Amino acid sequence: MATHDISTDALVIRAVPQGDHDRLLTLLCPEEGRITVIAKGARSLRNKLMSPCRAFVWGNFELHFKGDMAWVRDASVIKSFTALEKDIELMYLAQYISDVCCELSGQGEPAGELLPLALNTYHALCTEKYDRALVKAAFELRAAAISGYLPELSECVRCERREAPAFYLDVMSGGIVCSDCIASSPENVQASDAELLVDVLGTRSIIIPITAGVLAAMRYVVNAPLKRLLSFDISSQTDKNTFSRAAETYILNHIERGFSSLSLYHELSKN
Ligand SMILES: [Zn+2]
Repeated sequence: MATHDISTDALVIRAVPQGDHDRLLTLLCPEEGRITVIAKGARSLRNKLMSPCRAFVWGNFELHFKGDMAWVRDASVIKSFTALEKDIELMYLAQYISDVCCELSGQGEPAGELLPLALNTYHALCTEKYDRALVKAAFELRAAAISGYLPELSECVRCERREAPAFYLDVMSGGIVCSDCIASSPENVQASDAELLVDVLGTRSIIIPITAGVLAAMRYVVNAPLKRLLSFDISSQTDKNTFSRAAETYILNHIERGFSSLSLYHELSKN
């Protein structure tokens, strides 16, 4: 059976116990993308793999491949985001970020911007300098944008108008729709602010009203340099809530699945 070894930096996006002593890791690597590897002995005290082979570690990994299987030969921590485990709500949020990365990455496909985005997001969550809900929303929108679901936010996806009294996010069409197009299409029900999501007659039309402030924040997040991703202002709590729900609804509907980590996070954060 063909064997080969590689050395790569990687982010541990999942670490599950296997047997009595081992861990099964999912790594996100710059070049190789997503790799599943066995870390033998990583659950044993004093094993050299114990601290690098756990969730939320950015490290260097020596991997041995044999056929379809891979093992960690050696590993060292570059940065450990242990602060993510300081409360359960934060831990589930970090796990959700990892789950989305797992879903959006591919085996053998370079991770591209997804990897620095995940690292920046973990860092921002550890520092607690930013509102968690906004860090989450910025991650969701940017992750969607770089994974083939870039929303059209510059003009109405139906009439191409750039100026309008109001805009809505049409989640399934992947962009904004102006208020005139909404008013003139009988299949659209105008959502009240209290009820942001409208599922019209099972057609999965999801129309979210967005203010100018929310639209500006969304435009910023899909275009900003990664290092300045969180340097946007969103003033009112209502706008923050709309931005959060728009980003989450957008990515979940394009990935076409939910996540238990996300449900648990919502249960704890109550938003
Ligand atoms: Zn329009």
